[in-house]
Amino acid sequence: QRDVKYVSDLFLGDIRSRHTVITDIKELQNAIRRSGKRMRIIAKPAEEESQVEDKDAYPRPPPKKSDLKFRPPIVTVMGHVDHGKTTLLDALRHSSVVDQEFGGITQHIGAFSVQLQTGAKVTFLDTPGHAAFSAMRARGANLTDIVVLVVAADDGVMEQTVESIKMARKAKVPMLVAINKIDAPKANVERTEQMLMQVGIQVERVGGDVQAVHISALKCINLDQLTEALVLQAELMEIGGDPSGPVEAVVVESRVDPHRGRLCTLVVQRGTLKKGDVLTADTAIAKVRLLRDSNGQILDSVEPGYPAEVEGWKDLPPAGALVLEVESERRAREVSKFREDKKEAERLEEDAVAISAKMEQHEKVYKERLQLKRRLGRFKLRPEGPRKPEIPEGDNEPFINLIIKADVDGTLEAILEALSTYHSKKCKMDIVSYGIGAVTENDVELADTFKGIIYAFNVDCPSRIQQQANENSVPIQHYNVIYKLIDALKEDINERLPPKQ
Ligand code: GDP
Repeated sequence: QRDVKYVSDLFLGDIRSRHTVITDIKELQNAIRRSGKRMRIIAKPAEEESQVEDKDAYPRPPPKKSDLKFRPPIVTVMGHVDHGKTTLLDALRHSSVVDQEFGGITQHIGAFSVQLQTGAKVTFLDTPGHAAFSAMRARGANLTDIVVLVVAADDGVMEQTVESIKMARKAKVPMLVAINKIDAPKANVERTEQMLMQVGIQVERVGGDVQAVHISALKCINLDQLTEALVLQAELMEIGGDPSGPVEAVVVESRVDPHRGRLCTLVVQRGTLKKGDVLTADTAIAKVRLLRDSNGQILDSVEPGYPAEVEGWKDLPPAGALVLEVESERRAREVSKFREDKKEAERLEEDAVAISAKMEQHEKVYKERLQLKRRLGRFKLRPEGPRKPEIPEGDNEPFINLIIKADVDGTLEAILEALSTYHSKKCKMDIVSYGIGAVTENDVELADTFKGIIYAFNVDCPSRIQQQANENSVPIQHYNVIYKLIDALKEDINERLPPKQ
C-alpha cells in the first residue's frame, strides 16, 4: 500500500460480494479490516500515470513546399529475371560523367547516382528485383520515386513483369518502361508493346501515358534517352527535398566490412548528412565517421536524393529502416533503449498469447484425460510415464502386456471391462497403456519396451507407424468386434503358456 500514490483508481474486488470503488486510502484500510480477510490488492494506476513517457524519435512534420529544392529522383529497376536489370544498372553506372572523371572504380553499395551530360542527376537503387522493393515497403519506406520496368523485347511480358507492375501500382509509384534487348535477333518491340497493353500498360506510342524507351543495355543503345525520360518524369512529379534541419534517410542495405566495421548505405530524404552527425535507425545507432559514394569517394555532405555509405554504426540497421538524426549520443541511446524495450514488450505479448493458447489446449486435453480416467479409473493401469520394464525373467513366468487403442471411450471402457473379467492365474496380464485414437509412435515404443501387443479396435494405424512396428517386431492386431478381441487374447495367452503335459 505504501507504493500506491493514486487511490482514485484502486479497485478492490468483492468485499461483501460487491465491487467497491475506494477513493481514500483510509477507507481502503478500513474496508480491508472490516472484511476480516487477507486481501490481495490489484492497484491499477490512474490512466494519465500509466502512459510511459514516449522517448522515441519521430520525423518532423512534412516540409513546406517553399523549402523544397529539386533533388535527383530515386529509381528502382524491376522486371522479369534475365530481362537485363543487372546489365542495365551496370551500364548506367558506367555512363556517369562523374564516374569517368574519377577513373571509375565502382563498387556495389546498394545505390548510386549518375550525372548526365546535361548535368541532371538520377539515383538508382542497384539491388534489382522486387525482393528489395518489397523489403523496403514492408518497413513502410517509400523510397522509390519511379520504377523502371525492364521488359526484354525477345521475351515479352512474363510472370515477374506482371508482378512488378502490380507492386508499383500498389505502392502508387509511376512507371517507365524500358524495352530491352532491341539488338537481339528475335527482338519484337511491337509485340512486346501489345503484350504490355494486355496487362494494362499503354505506352505513349499507342496513345497511352506510360513513357517507353527502346534500349539495349548490353550495347548501350539509347541509355541517354532512358535517363532523360527519367529526369522528365521527375520534373513532372515536381520531386523535391528539404536540405535543412535534422537528417531523415532510409537504409538501403547494411553490411560488415572486415576493415571498416559496420557499414550501411542510405539515401537521404531530408536534411544534409555530415560527418559527426548522430543517427538512429531501428535500434541501431551511429556517429558518422565517414561518408562515401559508390565510387569510393569521400563526401563532405550528402543532400536529399543522394546515397552514401556511412561508417560508424554500432549495430547493423536493417534495410528499409528509417534513419533519424538526433541531437546527441545520449539521446540516441535513449531512443535505442526505448525501441528495444518496446520490441521486448511486443515479443512478450506475442509469447503471452501463444502461451495462453497452448495452456488452453493443454487444459482441454487434460480435462478429456481426466474425464476418461474417472470413467475408466477402476481398471488397473500401470502408472504413466517412464518406468523400468517389468519383464519377468525366465521362460517359466508367462506374461502378456497389452496396449489398447480404441475409437471412442465407450468402446474402450467396454474392452477394459471385458479384459478385467478375464483372469488367468497362469499368465500375468498387464495393460501397459490405453487410449483413444490411432496407433502412435509412442504406442509402438511402449510395446517394444514392454514386449507388448497392440490391440487396435476400430482405429487406423498410419503406414509409417506400421513400418516402425514391423521393424521392431511389434505386433499390432486390428479388431472391430469385442468378442473377437477377447478370443484373440485367450489365444495369445495360450500361446504363452507352457505346453500341457
Ligand atoms: P537480370 O536477371 O534481369 O538482372 O538480367 P541480366 O542483366 O543478368 O541479363 C540476362 C542476360 O541477358 C545476360 O546474359 C545479358 O548479357 C543479356 N542481356 C542483357 N541486356 C541485353 C541486351 O540489351 N541485349 C542482349 N542481346 N542481351 C542482353
